[in-house]
Amino acid sequence: MKIPRYLLAATFCLTPVAGLTQATPAEITEAKRIQATVLGVDSHNDNAQRILIEGVDIGKRLPDGTIDLPRLREGGIHVPFFALWVPSYYQKAEAVRRTLQLRDAMQKVFDKYPEQIELATSAHDIERIVGQKKIAAILTAEGGHQIDDDLAVLRMYRRMGILSMTLTHFRNNDWADSSTTPPVHNGLTEFGKQVVREMNTLGMMVDISHVSDKTFYDVLDVTTKPVIASHSSCFVMSDVPRNMKDDMFRALAKNGGVVGVNFGSSFLSQKDADELKQHIARANTEEPNLSGAELDAYAAKEHIDHDEGHPRTGAATVEDAANCIDHIVKVAGIDHVGIGSDFDGIPSVPLGLEDVSKMPALTAALLHRGYKEEDIRKIMGGNYLRVIKDVVGH
Ligand SMILES: [Zn+2]
Repeated sequence: MKIPRYLLAATFCLTPVAGLTQATPAEITEAKRIQATVLGVDSHNDNAQRILIEGVDIGKRLPDGTIDLPRLREGGIHVPFFALWVPSYYQKAEAVRRTLQLRDAMQKVFDKYPEQIELATSAHDIERIVGQKKIAAILTAEGGHQIDDDLAVLRMYRRMGILSMTLTHFRNNDWADSSTTPPVHNGLTEFGKQVVREMNTLGMMVDISHVSDKTFYDVLDVTTKPVIASHSSCFVMSDVPRNMKDDMFRALAKNGGVVGVNFGSSFLSQKDADELKQHIARANTEEPNLSGAELDAYAAKEHIDHDEGHPRTGAATVEDAANCIDHIVKVAGIDHVGIGSDFDGIPSVPLGLEDVSKMPALTAALLHRGYKEEDIRKIMGGNYLRVIKDVVGH
């Protein structure tokens, strides 16, 4: 495909922190050039929560958070996946209602800024929209509970433009085990297998981030299409249950899938692993018995109290993000790794990669490791485009 070179003249705010990056000034200059012209797929952000709950206007540069349209352009991320994440305490039909609220919030953005952003529902859409110098937004569901155990709901989500679904969030649902609660199904149930088959048929990407290792292998047994891990990192770097072991990377490569590396400091550095473990424990104990507006008010308070959209800098640096990419390349190959930042959904971010505008720093770190431009193009979107063409279609 032809990638427009439209951002060549853009100025990136890339301020190398002394001693942080080993990239040379020449590599940093080259990184800015490359990052301005990559497709720029990032398979997970939680910006939709801020749009719905805080009412932020992402058409303008925001003073806080990690994502908005100007910073997406600066960072060369032209194809962000906006997760319509619904906390697991939204149960049954409440989870469907919440999904619709998030879908509506995103529609308002598309309607307000048609010259800046457009919903993409095919590979052709992505190429056309990016070619028009706009952001091609991909919508995803994050948590199989959002279909309320009903394939009709799943089918309608696809018609609403939702192109992938993470099978679980932090908790098990009625048909799949999560990586962060004790297993009750030994992986996928029979209905869970039906969900995977239906997603294959519908042209929806099956996302195995968050699921238990057994669920992951059950999915690979059933699926006829490549799967994605939209926001996961390397277990060898941080032993949080959300991260993937090397055997899983190898199995994902055999399936033809892609893992998007999560930038959360706790995903990249063992020093911050406890932070994520505590976050998971909290999410798994809070079970308000509310519905409707009261439940929404609870979710809003939780979002604000825990400052979800305002991460601090953690123990990890941009070099750790590059190390994780490098590790996956060594284990699974260059064709199976991408970016899955989790921006606006992680409590701490790496030094040097504090928001999406800093993406050229990561590209510089990869150049310094000897990655060629064509390799970087795969990591920054080419691999995901291949899977989207195969699963979702042209
Ligand atoms: Zn997640």
